Order: sequence, then C-alpha cells, then structure tokens
Amino acid sequence: MQNVKIVLKSGKDQSVHRYHPWIFSGAIKKIYGSPAEGDFVEVYDNKDTFLAVGHYQPGSIAVRIISFKNVVPDTGFFRDRIRSALNYRKALGLTENDHTNVYRLVHAEGDDLPGLIIDFYNGVAVMQMHSVGMYRLKTEFTGILKELLGEKLTGVFDKSEETLPYMSGVKATNEFLYGNAGPVTVMENGFHFKVDWTSGQKTGFFIDQRENRRLLNEYTFGRQVLNMFGYTGSFSVYAMKDAKLVHTVDSSASAIDLADENIRLNFGNDERHQAFKADAFDFMGDINGRYDLIILDPPAFAKHKNVLSNALQGYKKLNIKAIEQIKPGGIIFTFSCSQVVTKENFRKSVFTAAANTGRRVRILHQMGQPADHPVNIYHPESEYLKGLVLYVE
Ligand code: SAH
Repeated sequence: MQNVKIVLKSGKDQSVHRYHPWIFSGAIKKIYGSPAEGDFVEVYDNKDTFLAVGHYQPGSIAVRIISFKNVVPDTGFFRDRIRSALNYRKALGLTENDHTNVYRLVHAEGDDLPGLIIDFYNGVAVMQMHSVGMYRLKTEFTGILKELLGEKLTGVFDKSEETLPYMSGVKATNEFLYGNAGPVTVMENGFHFKVDWTSGQKTGFFIDQRENRRLLNEYTFGRQVLNMFGYTGSFSVYAMKDAKLVHTVDSSASAIDLADENIRLNFGNDERHQAFKADAFDFMGDINGRYDLIILDPPAFAKHKNVLSNALQGYKKLNIKAIEQIKPGGIIFTFSCSQVVTKENFRKSVFTAAANTGRRVRILHQMGQPADHPVNIYHPESEYLKGLVLYVE
C-alpha cells in the first residue's frame, strides 16, 4: 500500500502546511499510480517533499488527510486515534455519567478522523462513514471499539448506506457488525429517549443539541412552547418539565409518533403536550400571540454552497414568522445546522428577519455545538451548529 503518490501544484501545499485536512482535486498536479476509491495515498509538494498521507476519493475533495506524518495508518494507528477520542470524552465527563449515556465518540475531522462518525447510544455504537477509505476499515473499527469499551459495548451498527459519496462505486448496507440490539432507550441529562438508528435520521438522535436543550429548560417555566421541526421531540421533552403547554410540529408522521412516544416515556399521558403533523410554514401561517417560547431547529436548508442564498432566505422567512407572531416578552431559540452557512450569515438572516418585523429584539445567548462535537482549529468547516436565543418585546 501507499505506493500511490499525489503531487500538488506549486503553491497548493499552503493549506496542508496549515494542517487543513482536505486536498481538493484542483490542487493536484499529477497522480503517480492509479488509486482506487478509498486507497491510502501519499501527498507531496511540487518539490517532492512529503506532506501527508490520506484516503483517496474521486470527486471534489480528492484526499482526506489522515496524518501529516509519514506513518503507516494501520490498525494500531487508528486504535490510538480512537482511544484519544474516547479519553477526550472521558475528560468531558461523558463516559461515566449518571445522567447521560449518549454522546458522540468520534466527530470526523474534529477528532482527526475525517469521514468517520461514531455515536454512542447506551451501549450501542452507531458508525456512519462519509468516505470509502473509512468504510473499508469498518471491521477494524469494530474490533477497536470492542477492545476499548469492553463490556460497556453491546453492539456496533454500521449506518453508511446513505452517507457514502454519491458517486461511490461501493454499496453499503446498514447492518450490525457486532451484537444485534433493538432500539435502545438512552438517558440525557436525566431525560429518556428511544433511539432507533435503523429508521431514524442520521444515526438516530441529534446529540449535538444536548446543551442547548438544557439551556432551554431555564426558560420554559409556565410558558406556552412551540417546538418546530421537533423530530424525536427532544426539545419538547425538556420543555415538558415545567411548561404550561408544549406543541411539537414536524412534517413526518414517524417523527410525530416518536415525539409522542418520548413524551410518554418521561411524563406518561400528559395533556399539556400535543404533536401536529404539518408543514412548518403552513403551521406558522397564523400563530399570532399563541406562544411565548418558540424553537426553530430546521434541517440543513443548504447542503451546498450554490444554494446558500436560498437557504438564507429560508432562515429569514422562518424567523420572520416567529418574531412577528410571538407574544410580547417571548423567547425564540433559533438554529442553523447547515455547514455552509456561517455564524455571521446566520446572524444576518435573523437580523434581517427582526428588522422586517420592527419589534425590539435582544440576543440572550449565542450557541454552538457541544464539546463532544469538537471543532478542529485547522478545519473551520467542522463548526456547523449555530443558534441564537432571542428575547422579543
Ligand atoms: N429538533 C430536532 C431535530 C430536527 S431535524 C431534534 O432536536 O432532534 C429536522 C426535522 O424537520 C425532521 O424531523 C424533518 O422531518 C422536519 N422537517 C423537514 N422539513 C419540514 C417542514 N417543511 N415542515 C416541518 N417539518 C419539517
């Protein structure tokens, strides 16, 4: 292996010297050898100096760098990287926690493992690979997880069917690589949630909102809460602790069922909660004065840069509807999880929305992703979740 050598065009080595983990195809001068999808390749500058070793992938991001050192990325190498990711979560207090048994164990570039996501759900590790290079290592990763987690690990599920590159010649199947547990119930900050990785979106649960959900709890007392784009109803569950009423809205029927189920799991048949299957924009057509806390956590409106302006329009429209209609003294939790929408862009669309309504709006909090979704300082793209808490007079 590693006999494929990729030489960069003059000057195109700069980002590698700044430890950015991606090599774009346009930066490549010549490929010596004919790498298959997912092969390890060595990257050199124009003067034949070694720069990095990474996974090759035909497409815009041609190489995802695994190491800036001239190493052989064998099982021992990946064991060290995953152990480091686990130790980091230990340091965050997530691995031995009486109130939380769900966390992200590996966050791709954020943990120097580009293309690999591993979420831990009360014993079951759900892996999602975004590159063929990582996908080809799934058996090794399973062995490493068994070794590092011991009896804490009851299963490893591979959910890469929808996440491997679109043009990839490799066909993944969602399946257990170890164990065969059904859906599990996880605990987060003392609340319980059913997680079904087989039918659910992404790996089954949006772990990245954990701290924002906890923050929500500081503002829910006695309020009439509207949770838009509710999915598992996770924000609704937190809100139910002390809100006057909670309405969950999602366009997907299965999401609505799951939200109802999670409310029952924590609060039984509590009439304060109601879930509505509806399109967000329709539902928010006329909600004037009905709510004094609104959560807006839409799916990524922009997945690619070329649809950025449409996405910003989407955020603006949505936020106008909420800011315009919320009760005076109301609070809005508004988010964007689109990677291509920057913090500044998002704030600008919320600003434009506020200006459209003419209401007084203050920013109470600015939120991001939790520490188990770390941002690699050399890879600003790993920062994707942004949120604002607004007070509307
Ligand atoms: N807030 C959730 C995550 C939201 S994911 C959590 O904390 O877990 C986005 C959700 O928006 C999905 O469940 C999807 O079904 C829903 N959705 C997508 N488009 C929608 C629309 N136009 N109207 C309402 N819901 C929509």
